[in-house]
Amino acid sequence: MTAKTDAPPLPDSYTTLAGILREVATITSAQALLSWDQETMMPPRGAAFRATQLATLSGLVHDRSTSPELGEMISAAEADPDVQADEALAASVREMRRDYDRAVRLPGSLVREMTEAFALGMEAWRSARERNDFAAFLPHLEKTVDLNRRAAEAYGVPEGGELYDALLEGYEPGMTAAEVDRVFSGLRADLAPLIHEIAEAATRPDDAFADRRLSIPDQQAFNRAVVERMGFDMEAGRLDVSTHPFCSGIAPGDTRLTSRYREDGFLDALSSTMHEGGHGMYEQGLPEQHFGAPLGEAAGLGIHESQSRMWENMVGRSRPFWEWALPQAKAAFPEQLGDVDLDAAFGAANVVQPTLIRVESDEATYNLHIMLRFDLERAMLKGDLAPADLPEAWNERIRADLGIEVPDDRRGCLQDVHWSMGAIGYFPTYTLGNLYAAQLWAAAREELTDLDAGIAAGDFSPLLRWLRENIHQHGRRFPAPELCERVTQRPLSHDPLIGYLREKLTPLYGLG
Ligand code: ZN
Repeated sequence: MTAKTDAPPLPDSYTTLAGILREVATITSAQALLSWDQETMMPPRGAAFRATQLATLSGLVHDRSTSPELGEMISAAEADPDVQADEALAASVREMRRDYDRAVRLPGSLVREMTEAFALGMEAWRSARERNDFAAFLPHLEKTVDLNRRAAEAYGVPEGGELYDALLEGYEPGMTAAEVDRVFSGLRADLAPLIHEIAEAATRPDDAFADRRLSIPDQQAFNRAVVERMGFDMEAGRLDVSTHPFCSGIAPGDTRLTSRYREDGFLDALSSTMHEGGHGMYEQGLPEQHFGAPLGEAAGLGIHESQSRMWENMVGRSRPFWEWALPQAKAAFPEQLGDVDLDAAFGAANVVQPTLIRVESDEATYNLHIMLRFDLERAMLKGDLAPADLPEAWNERIRADLGIEVPDDRRGCLQDVHWSMGAIGYFPTYTLGNLYAAQLWAAAREELTDLDAGIAAGDFSPLLRWLRENIHQHGRRFPAPELCERVTQRPLSHDPLIGYLREKLTPLYGLG
């Protein structure tokens, strides 16, 4: 055997550039750690100074990532034939250019105006939601739409595209509103009848055991064991508690997950933990040597969400998973779960029930909540829907799609934080995540013939290896739509998600 030879040295123009971005990412990682601490550990009186710390670091990051020197370095790398000869480096520089141009196109005055308006918007939204007072939030919503329109104009609308594209690009690079619309329309056409059939079905899974009371410390130990078994590396991460579960990829070797527990919420906690674990394993699988550069970053929010949804839903709500997990759960909670059988556990994990609240909805109806938000925010941005008419449009759509009445705006158009914090163009990434997850899952199942048997035996490593190889190791080298097509040999489609849901739900609900 010959000794392993070193990879050829990277071109100087690239090394210099990557060094600067690594420094910026180091500041960003300090910010991420401060934010994690804010959500998990910080005493209440630390809040005011924490805001100052975060704002100071944000300023540093903004200055560095928009500096003319950085722009010149990117140009130098673009002109360097050695960089351009290497496909991965060329892709990395292309993404750096994309980020840089977006950052400098937004005038400083507009950035400041947005920061201020969205901080006020969040505050107004909190109290408006609490008091169920849409009128109090309306001026802020109008401002949000207006500022986003101005930002989209500053970013620039791609040829043949629309304003929404310029915003979507910030969350899901390479995706357009027209493409989202194409895939979502197909999904809606097939999903609505499925949900209707389920609503009419005579058979329903019995999930009565799901609200039995289980001690929270024991649940925490159980969740930790599951996420470790999935392949989340606890030597390079943690699992803690927060009000809203999240995952933060702080730095190489340090990925933080949180979950939340209720004594009567065993299944909810488990699905949150598996969801965040999926995000966390993606972060842990990004190439460390490219930390700070696009090759070390996720390929967009949709692909990130596909990783969490695959572990939460395709794995965590599957029969093979429960073949393995139920005996573990019974051993951990013999008194409370001793009498639960596999059919009951699998059924309880797959209850489909329309609800008013997006974050409480099941994996099938969830997507209708997202499509509604996408259509309404796109219409507001276009000027086709006045923000004042939002509640009426919202309630009508919930009635049509889910067959339920919205009793108040608190449980209607005021329920989500996104618009109050200025995020228009974010929502579709959730359903894109479900679509990517199903399409990738179908491809993985085709390639990994023993996948189900492995999962039933508690061996998740073939799936994680497959994800590492096909998704994680590439970072942001390929835009999400291209990555999906490379791995699955076809463009993004709604068919795999519908096929997956039908296959699983048909026997559970006795559908025809
Ligand atoms: Zn997520």
